[in-house]
Amino acid sequence: MSRFDDIIGQELIKKFLLTSIARGKVSHAYVIEGDKGMGKKLIANTFAAYLVCDDKSSCGACESCKLAAGGAHPDIITVLPEKKQIGVDDIRQVIKSISIKPYMADKKVVIIPDADGITQEAQNALLKVLEEPPEYVVFIILIQNAELLLDTIQSRVMRLSLTPYTEADIKKALGGDSALVAASENNIGKALALSGDETYLEIRDNCLKQIEKLMSSRQIVIFDTVEFFEQNKEETGKILDIMLGFLRDIVFIKLGQTDLLGNKDKTESLVRLAEKTQLSGAFKMAQYITEAQKMHSRNVNFNILVTAFANGCWEVLNGRNSRSSF
Ligand SMILES: [Zn+2]
Repeated sequence: MSRFDDIIGQELIKKFLLTSIARGKVSHAYVIEGDKGMGKKLIANTFAAYLVCDDKSSCGACESCKLAAGGAHPDIITVLPEKKQIGVDDIRQVIKSISIKPYMADKKVVIIPDADGITQEAQNALLKVLEEPPEYVVFIILIQNAELLLDTIQSRVMRLSLTPYTEADIKKALGGDSALVAASENNIGKALALSGDETYLEIRDNCLKQIEKLMSSRQIVIFDTVEFFEQNKEETGKILDIMLGFLRDIVFIKLGQTDLLGNKDKTESLVRLAEKTQLSGAFKMAQYITEAQKMHSRNVNFNILVTAFANGCWEVLNGRNSRSSF
């Protein structure tokens, strides 16, 4: 059984949805907007459970609630795209299934997850339904950035943007305080994923040490950085993500925006590093990391990636003109 009371944070959105149910003012379409790991699916599934429940309370006892809890309610349709992104055929399928009245509930809920890649053609098809939806249908579209949707769709949906979780929310989710609270960047999904990753904090500490080394003035450290990557070859993507997070924080410190730090527990070290580097250098290094991330996603040879990255960073941080190898 899923109830809003059991979901941590997002108080405003939960209250808004509960109030619209209580007042009988449920919209035909919602967009829930938020980064990966923010809980879009959980909120959508929970809202759907309320909508199909016999007394609209997600009571947990009625037949609808039992089916919803098992992910088997016939009036809750979750779109699973045929291809990588939601295409027009997926939307046609939806149109077909909503032309049939609800089987058990008085609502039929259509959840469209990962709508970020939805094609133009699919959006046009979706728009047509949103213009004249059957009265029993409720669409819940989940997306990282609602601006990707056509203006004409945006104007027909209720847009709910998830807000960053507070430190207290994350602590609650993790069941206590830990260094992961700071590393989670106010994203509850990330916090939970990290809590299942035993080596994460150790790798994170080592990443910071590597950045400190890169910012020292001896070129020999390049070999050290290359070695660090080699020892953790399987974790290349993770290491680059963590390093980018640290660099972003160094930039925030240079800009005087310490309230935006994602790695608050490392503030002291990061401030020291910020003192050592120019704003332009930190930007440039962040750029090198982003480039390395792209190379990593394109499966560029590991040695080329790491050597180019380490050389680039070292030169930037030591104030040389960078001979970009990218
Ligand atoms: Zn119920």
